Amino acid sequence: MSSEIIKHNPFQSMIDRFNIAADILKLDDSIKQKLQRPEKQITVNFSITLDNGNVQNFEGYRVIHNTALGPSKGGIRYDTAVNLDEVKALAAWMTWKSAVTGIPFGGAKGGIICDPRNHSKTELEKITRAYTKALSDIFGPEKDVPAPDMGTGPDEMGWLMDEFSILHGRPIHAVVTGKHLHSGGSLGRVEATGRGVSIITLLALEKLKIRPARATAAIQGFGNVGLHSALFLHEKGVKIVAVSDVSEAFYNPNGINIPELILYYNLNNKTIKGYPNSVAIKHEDLLLLDVDVLIPAAKEDVITQKNAGDIKARIIVEGANGPVASDADQILHDKNILVVPDILANAGGVTVSYFEWLQNSLLESWRISQINKRLEDILEKGFETVFRVAVKHNVTPRIAAYIIALKKVAETQSVKEVALEAPLFKQN
Ligand code: GLU
Repeated sequence: MSSEIIKHNPFQSMIDRFNIAADILKLDDSIKQKLQRPEKQITVNFSITLDNGNVQNFEGYRVIHNTALGPSKGGIRYDTAVNLDEVKALAAWMTWKSAVTGIPFGGAKGGIICDPRNHSKTELEKITRAYTKALSDIFGPEKDVPAPDMGTGPDEMGWLMDEFSILHGRPIHAVVTGKHLHSGGSLGRVEATGRGVSIITLLALEKLKIRPARATAAIQGFGNVGLHSALFLHEKGVKIVAVSDVSEAFYNPNGINIPELILYYNLNNKTIKGYPNSVAIKHEDLLLLDVDVLIPAAKEDVITQKNAGDIKARIIVEGANGPVASDADQILHDKNILVVPDILANAGGVTVSYFEWLQNSLLESWRISQINKRLEDILEKGFETVFRVAVKHNVTPRIAAYIIALKKVAETQSVKEVALEAPLFKQN
């Protein structure tokens, strides 16, 4: 018999957890169905002229999952693997993420099928402007507010803001977050997700009574999230023994000098490939190292029922969105591994996005100390609430986070539904 190949689908993983939480809450079927599906999903096709004169077509998406709690919020991903099911899952996770942390936003996500590494800056600008044009009636500071995600950053957000402003004939900074400071960005936004991951990791270590200075960590992914998580944890004395990016994974049991690695990475065309003072390991082996903390900060579905049984970490902090497939949940739980779910662990990004949106809307500019303090307060509160609900319902922190989020969104949603239906179904 051929070996079994299970194709994981992040949207299905989201639904699996959603259903467990919905059953515990005894959520009404109609509202359950409503919250499983996105409010809106848009596919756009557009073309740009490449630097060599050829014309290339692109397909992009924007999925608005839910707007019960506020304008929809979520990043835009540039990657060759982008597909509608992935964007749908990522959009729903944004809804739950904002709800768990108490940010007054709904959830959305966008994506364009492209390889940003294969395009010049001029081409990326054209792609971003064309995508913005195609979605100009969807985006808006009080409607749908994009942000960076994998493959995008402050440059793309600046172009989006500029294009949207041109189309509307006035500067509209609050239409997008994650911009450069000179385009109305916020201090602390670039490092916010990684800072949040490190705050949550320290709280999880405290829960297991492990002192940071005695803790070891392995971090998968050295993009914006992985890099800053590594840096902040290193600063707190955590020994980072393994890191990886798409090109390479390596291990040093004595701990990697993270500031030195970041310097190397910046001088080496944004890759860690070839970094000395460590041993190369297989990518998949990084996940199986005997460490206190494992931080998957790359992509979805890297931990599945196939490798979950071999994981030796005591804590998993989900820096990425959806790195653990739902078929691994029970295995990790049985192994007594503390999994801090993505919708709490990486919520630092959207939290500081919210601060950026507020600063833009209020025409204010906040100090970094103020931003970091508020971020810490919000994440600490989120962490405490999730663990309290987990104990109350005797569920994992992930299911607890879904319970909190679903309850909040369902209550608000049902008020809206009743308000809409009342005039239609009058009872005499
Ligand atoms: N893309 C990030 C996330 O997945 C940030 C979203 C935002 O700031 O709106 O949380």
